[in-house]
This record gives sequence, structure tokens and C-alpha cells, in this order.
Amino acid sequence: MLVDTHCHLDAAEFAGDRDAVMAAARAAGVAAIVVPAVAPGNFAAVRACCERQAGCHPAYGTHPLFLGALDETALDALRACLERELAGSHPPVAVGEIGLDFYVPGFDAARQERFFIEQLKIARDFGLPVLLHVRRSVNAVLKCLRRTGVRGGIAHAFNGSRQQADAFLDLGFRLGFGGAMTFPRATRIRALAAALPPEAIVLETDAPDIPPVWLAGGRNAPAELPRIAGVLADLRGVERAEVERFTTGNAVSLLRLPMADANAETR
Ligand code: ZN
Repeated sequence: MLVDTHCHLDAAEFAGDRDAVMAAARAAGVAAIVVPAVAPGNFAAVRACCERQAGCHPAYGTHPLFLGALDETALDALRACLERELAGSHPPVAVGEIGLDFYVPGFDAARQERFFIEQLKIARDFGLPVLLHVRRSVNAVLKCLRRTGVRGGIAHAFNGSRQQADAFLDLGFRLGFGGAMTFPRATRIRALAAALPPEAIVLETDAPDIPPVWLAGGRNAPAELPRIAGVLADLRGVERAEVERFTTGNAVSLLRLPMADANAETR
């Protein structure tokens, strides 16, 4: 039993066959999927997706590359959404996808940071963990986390040093590993995935993005997760069942996922 801690199942790429994609994921043993929003404009789509698909859990927030012309009302929309949905039938398991992206040129770093900090405060006030987008911004993200004191979360698609990984772990975070780890040339990510303690790691696909090496750039899907788990098992020199056990246990306890079976199995 696996948990995909980061999958954009609401994306347009899945419009034509979302039910089949989910059926394939379930058949492959993916018991839960976290679907992060990227802006208030797709909150409803994320919610609808999680309502329709058993095992899908929403996260709400605004991604640093989707700030566009958004203003403070996006923060009000997030607060209102969390208040409403936490009392509803499909409660959010995190605030996300939020973060900082200093890789793509033309995005105002100060504005990104302001939105990020405000969303971290919202997550802290609601007692939710956060799903972080961190690109060329690890130290700035760590600084914001220390300033706001959130309840941990996941650094999605982690690609930093061991020292930076340890800094996230000290703040109660887990690190998300997925398709990038399947490329033989990704030596730093693979070395980290092999060496980090088991409690540091969760699995993710980021589908439809970050396709593993065997998809040759094609559309990624949550059904790829078992094979990704197999790569992690090979890197660590353990059985895949062990990787399933600790990654699922980490995800379930961090995100408080309602998976009675997984809890029984992993404790
Ligand atoms: Zn994402």
C-alpha cells in the first residue's frame, strides 16, 4: 500500500481519462493520493476531483508561479476555503502547493516571499502541515519556515544538499522523492535517497509532471508509484515492501490520513 503525496490529478492532462488513471493507481496499490491546488481558481476542481475519487485528499494554496495578478483576496479565499472544507466531508490534509521559485526568471522574489509567509501563517493558524515547492530557494524557504513556525510538512521534489535536508528534518519536515530519482545521472538525489533515515522520506509522482526515466518524457501517472518505490528500494538495498512500509507510515502520520489499514500495518 502506497501514498502518492503529490499528484495534480485535477490537471487538464487527465481530463479525458481521469477515472481510468485512478482505477490504474488503485489496482497498482496506491491507496491514497494528495491533490494540491495551485491557485484559488482551481480549488473547486481539486475539491470535485477528491469528492469523486475515493482515496484522494485535497490541499489548498497558491503556488509561487501562479500568483499572476492575484492580490490579498487570494489569502482571504484560502482562509475561507479551509474553514469551510475542514468542517466538510473531504477535509484538506495540508496547505499547498506553496513555496518559492527563484529559477524561473521574471517572478518578483519579494512578492513571492510575502505570499508564502502569509500562507505559512494561515497553515499554522489552522494547524495544518504544508506542501512546499522549493526551487533554487532552499535557504530562503528555511528562513520563512523558522520565522512562522508551521507544523511541518513536505519539501516536494526535494533537490538540495544533505545539510539542507537535515535542516528540513529538524523543522519536522519530510522530503518528497519521485521521478527525478529514477534517472541514473541524478547522482545527488539518488545518493540522498539512499542515505537519509527512513523517517525522512515520502514518495510522490507530481503527475502529470516529472515522468520517471522509463516514460521517456511522456505523461506521468500515479500508477507509476510502485515502480518508483522499487527504484528507492534498489538504491537503499532493501525490499520494496520495506520502502512501502516506511514511506506510507510517514505520509499517514504527517498528513493524518484516514487509513485505518495503513496505520495497523505500519505501527
Ligand atoms: Zn506540484
